[in-house]
Amino acid sequence: KPPAARKGSMTDVPKELMDRIDHYREIFTVSPEQMREISDHFAAELAKGLSKEGGNVPMNPGWVLDFPTGKETGDYLAIDLGGTNLRVVLVKLGGNRDFDSTQSKYALPDNIRTASADELWNFIADCLKKFVDEEFPHGVEDGKLLPLGFTFSYPATQHAINVGILQRWTKGFDIANVEGHDVVPMLQAAIEKRSIPIKIVAVINDTTGTLVASAYADPEARMGLIFGTGCNGAYYDVCGDIPKLEGCLPDDVSPETPMAINCEYGSFDNEHKVLPRTNIDVQIDAESPRPGQQAFEKMISGYYLGEVLRLALVEVCEMGLIFENQNLEKLRLPFYLDASYPSRVEQDPFENLSDTEDLFKNELGISTTEPERKLIRAVSEMIGTRAARLAVCGIAGICKKRGYTTAHCAADGSVYEKYPGFKERAAKGLRDIFQWETAEDPIVIVAAEDGSGAGAAIIAALTEKRLAVGKS
Ligand code: BGC
Ligand code: MG
Repeated sequence: KPPAARKGSMTDVPKELMDRIDHYREIFTVSPEQMREISDHFAAELAKGLSKEGGNVPMNPGWVLDFPTGKETGDYLAIDLGGTNLRVVLVKLGGNRDFDSTQSKYALPDNIRTASADELWNFIADCLKKFVDEEFPHGVEDGKLLPLGFTFSYPATQHAINVGILQRWTKGFDIANVEGHDVVPMLQAAIEKRSIPIKIVAVINDTTGTLVASAYADPEARMGLIFGTGCNGAYYDVCGDIPKLEGCLPDDVSPETPMAINCEYGSFDNEHKVLPRTNIDVQIDAESPRPGQQAFEKMISGYYLGEVLRLALVEVCEMGLIFENQNLEKLRLPFYLDASYPSRVEQDPFENLSDTEDLFKNELGISTTEPERKLIRAVSEMIGTRAARLAVCGIAGICKKRGYTTAHCAADGSVYEKYPGFKERAAKGLRDIFQWETAEDPIVIVAAEDGSGAGAAIIAALTEKRLAVGKS
């Protein structure tokens, strides 16, 4: 849903609050010129990440060396460990750019983000056991192992498709003894302890899964993007343009052979060269479990949007301009507001913002005045708009790197799907960068095919085919 048009006038908003609104508009606005500069720098950083020296953006090769043909077939299991859920999916590839899937979602236990590694792997294996018991009530064919594609939505170094060494946790995860280790043997051990007939055949970033699933269904798909709890993109480069892989590639690879790259561009501009960072962004970074990392993601993704709003409101409170005599206990708790707050505020259809009034009263115990709510609304709009405009700088960066003048950019994630106005603002942002004069936008963001299920399955199928060809 696009955000409701702002009907209420600002005439009743006192001067000092209007000044604050103007201040935030100033620091949160990203101009077309800034967007062009950011996306140029983006393209350069992507190339740097592929160089031998490497750069700030990891540019992790995903070892998917083929485009899907759409003719892949077979049954595969897939799991997706994301920021909020574990999904388990059984995918049947139809072979005609189509697939069927059956899935179950398991909410991550509250404490899991900071639990122990054993708790994490045991939780996933328990969910897998439940799923397999339900889907295969008569068991799996004797001696047969179900091939599993593991969608692991965190930066991982891959020396092969079935290796994923966690570089670092993101999105608030902070589990000891996983960073620096291959996640496959750890999960495989928990699976074997429960005698579940499953073999992990591929580790896949969610963006790579989105890319491949979308390319399976749509030959024009050029990238897979996630705008959700975290933010990231994947695209196909060619092996000849990846100097850091020289000497590591199989013999049958030519300079034109495609290679899926998980950019991990949430870490774009960690060195703070081009992003218009505000004092609020600096503060979010400082209080996060991983200061100095994911600079771009922290300005855009769902894990942080509510926090940006919270910190802005706390700042105005400190100036003594809003929420006089209110209990601010909850508002003062870091990360107490998730992205549903600015999202619900932006969706409030009432002129007096009475949905926002209820939200703040019921969830935070704060009674708001109408001018205060107008400030909350204005700031939320700026935060949502900034997120969308910065987000498309990554898309433009990939297009510039690869020389794409037309593209379908397949996107998924809670912010893309649910944040009011994100799609419209993102499309407008691309127009601001490229200044097209055509009636139709040549580069468009489209809704992705289910990446974590189908993508993992297709990648598993492509891997089996490669191995079979390699053997013969
Ligand atoms: C992770 C990426 C992931 C993205 C979207 C980021 O925090 O580093 O691996 O693709 O979130 O889920
Ligand atoms: Mg996800």
